[in-house]
Amino acid sequence: MKITDVRLGHISVPLRTPFKTALRTVKSVEDIIVRVETDTGNVGYGEVPPTGVITGDTTGAIIGAIEDHIKKSLLGMDIENIEEIMLRLDSSIVGNTSAKAGVDIAIYDLYGQLYNAPVYKLLGGYRKEITTDITISVNEPDEMARDSIDAINRGYKTLKIKVGKDAKKDIERMKAIRDAIGYDVDLRIDANQGWSPKEAIYALRKMEDEGLHIELVEQPVLGYDFEGLKMVTDNVSIPVMADESVFSPKDAIKIMEMRAADYINIKLMKTGGIHNALKICNIAEVYGMECMIGCMLEAKISVNAAVHLAAAKKIITKIDLDGPVLCSEDPVDGGAIFNESKIVLNDGPGFGIKQVHGVRYI
Ligand SMILES: [Mg+2]
Repeated sequence: MKITDVRLGHISVPLRTPFKTALRTVKSVEDIIVRVETDTGNVGYGEVPPTGVITGDTTGAIIGAIEDHIKKSLLGMDIENIEEIMLRLDSSIVGNTSAKAGVDIAIYDLYGQLYNAPVYKLLGGYRKEITTDITISVNEPDEMARDSIDAINRGYKTLKIKVGKDAKKDIERMKAIRDAIGYDVDLRIDANQGWSPKEAIYALRKMEDEGLHIELVEQPVLGYDFEGLKMVTDNVSIPVMADESVFSPKDAIKIMEMRAADYINIKLMKTGGIHNALKICNIAEVYGMECMIGCMLEAKISVNAAVHLAAAKKIITKIDLDGPVLCSEDPVDGGAIFNESKIVLNDGPGFGIKQVHGVRYI
């Protein structure tokens, strides 16, 4: 099964409601679709969200990286030799982790098809059903409390609350939500780098004192500030998760060696795809640090790949793969079934995706 072409297209999927974090507000998913074609007629699909504020990868840069660098290094390669493909993918261009992830996902899709097996079984096959949290956008406290009640009524048992715009207001937000929903639901919070280390310590201690029972806090401080992250981790009892601080396996090793966080959030768009995410899983097993798997604002193609990784690996104990349920339509035939918090894997070969609708090929 040899690679004969790598084609790209645009896809647009509206969101049910605007998605707001400390960094941005978004109304629709506008992603690049990667279609890797082979001489056997098999096709692998990948998807790349341009998330400039997090990865630095814009639509134009993603297209340029794949068209001008990655494609050339992979044409003619045999899917059987996935090891060599991934080495070439990593060395084809510096950075550009999202573009690499989109191609990596399409290659794993083909790898599963080659051996007629679902990818999650090839990678470990630990479980075939997972449960995700859902994200609550940052808004006024009463609106966030209403959104939280709505999510619980839809069956979610874990909510991920976006905070980080103003530490004092964030405490009000969390109080309003806890008051509204009671204590049967887990609350994790994500500050998306929005606090300084001291603000983070102040806000998190206050939340501890108020008895708000926060399961964990994601990325309280700037991604590059490993010392600041460690300062927060050392000074609060709420567990701290590194997200924007960890892109590569090397970042993961550094965080674990420093004990700068308690958990790591793996996202395929940060690691450059499954092959590097697997390295982080292996490192995390060695250090005994549980991981979350997350996504950007993505439709089902790339999130479905993350679902396979989550199902394969025991060390991934927390799931934040709500991209598809935030979308108002599903452009994909096949793949995992997303029924609010419950995600059930599809045992079709590769990632089980049969067709992607609405792609405007370039
Ligand atoms: Mg995060």
